[in-house]
Amino acid sequence: MDLYWASEMHSWSRPVYALGWAFVAGVVFIAYLETVEAVRRKHSLRSRQDKERKRLTERIQNVQRTRQAMEKESHTWRGFAYYHVVRKVVHGDSGICSFYLQPRDQRLGLPPFHPGQHLKFQFTIEGRPEPIVRRYSLSDAVNGKYLRISVKLAKPPRDCPDVPPGLGSSFLHQEIKVQEGEFLQGCLLVAPPNGSFYLEPLGIEPVVLIGGGVGVTPVLSMFNTILKENPAREVWFFYGIRNSKEDILSEQGVLFPQAREIIKLHKNLHLYTSYSRPLEGDATRLESKPEVYGKGRIDIGLLKQLLPSKHFKFYICGPDAMMAQLVDDLEDWGVPSEHLLTERFGPVKKTRMGAGPAKIKFRQTGIEAAFSDEDGFILDLAERMGVSIPNDCRSGSCGTCQIGIVTGKVCYPRKPSFRYSPNHCLTCCSVPDGDLELDA
Ligand SMILES: Cc1cc2nc3c(=O)[nH]c(=O)nc-3n(C[C@H](O)[C@H](O)[C@H](O)COP(=O)(O)OP(=O)(O)OC[C@H]3O[C@@H](n4cnc5c(N)ncnc54)[C@H](O)[C@@H]3O)c2cc1C
Repeated sequence: MDLYWASEMHSWSRPVYALGWAFVAGVVFIAYLETVEAVRRKHSLRSRQDKERKRLTERIQNVQRTRQAMEKESHTWRGFAYYHVVRKVVHGDSGICSFYLQPRDQRLGLPPFHPGQHLKFQFTIEGRPEPIVRRYSLSDAVNGKYLRISVKLAKPPRDCPDVPPGLGSSFLHQEIKVQEGEFLQGCLLVAPPNGSFYLEPLGIEPVVLIGGGVGVTPVLSMFNTILKENPAREVWFFYGIRNSKEDILSEQGVLFPQAREIIKLHKNLHLYTSYSRPLEGDATRLESKPEVYGKGRIDIGLLKQLLPSKHFKFYICGPDAMMAQLVDDLEDWGVPSEHLLTERFGPVKKTRMGAGPAKIKFRQTGIEAAFSDEDGFILDLAERMGVSIPNDCRSGSCGTCQIGIVTGKVCYPRKPSFRYSPNHCLTCCSVPDGDLELDA
């Protein structure tokens, strides 16, 4: 009976076992195939990543080599050198003209510069005994062909319509007449690129660039350089103007060639233009492309709405009030002040009170004076007391007025863009923070 049962069991269970084994083998085989596929995918992903990394490294090395070669070939110079204006572009009704410059002495080559830096010019104006000095930011990337500046004509202020327009900008807009491809007879005197408001183009940290009105020029140079040399970097570029009449970025040749295509290809690149007072005709543009055009000012609300986080380095240039508000609001949002860099085009206005009355001693001249809030900045007091301190931009951009601090401290109502040396101060935009002795 038992034998019969055993043999019965044996006879029907054999195919079941076989099926079981076949099933197990199938599962093992499928698992094997999947493992092989996963390994293959991992290898191909890694090799793609390796290729991409290699390509990027080669690209960075190429750019570095080109830059080094350009730096070797080009010479900077002391003082002023003559430059031809080889091209002048009037940007519609924006009141801005771009000037393309090349050295008169071709052997000089073009100077290297960091995107965001500016040039200093000396203009001789008819009827004025002394030449005037003005600064203009470079508005394009390093390109080995020309230097470009973009200048807004400084119209008389609304509250004094009878005063003359700005001297330097009028000289450039009106006196410089260039036919395409023709050199201007006569030249501009230009000092080498300078300034601490600049960006390391090959860096990897994500950046936000904000340009208001003609203040777009230094950040435009930064953006064009990133498009050209490092388009994998995360960049948010905000451009604030009143309306399409002022929109120089939408003009041919202002942005790096194929900029819009490069931006479309790279999800990490963003360009957003905001019109504070759009014209009727701007409605179509605003409605059809809400991801790139908006209405209103560039303010903290807009930044919080569009930026994925506050973890960016911010480069801001525009009207004083806009910059001051943005810096305050970004600080309140928690952006560290070392990540907030600004450039001022005009003299610093003392918007916040200084640290209160103090005594300032100028060591070299032996002159002592009491400083109060009405004195403006240290440089203003020094000039009143007859202490001579070389100065130039009076906006904290050039560093000419930097002097040593012997004892004491200063504070800056608005952070200057020039990176002054330790134990030194920029007298054009600082006030004493208690009694102070200066090396002047
Ligand atoms: C680092 C830096 C970078 C800069 N980059 C740029 C740039 O890229 N593009 C740009 O356009 N500018 C730039 N600037 C500003 C530029 O240097 C000049 O300040 C600007 O062009 C005005 O100079 P101006 O000679 O035309 O005007 P100014 O002669 O200095 O006159 C300034 C204003 O005063 C008015 N004015 C004249 N007389 C009187 C009076 N009696 N009372 C009251 N008002 C009067 C004029 O109408 C004018 O509006 C930059 C400045 C700095 C510091």
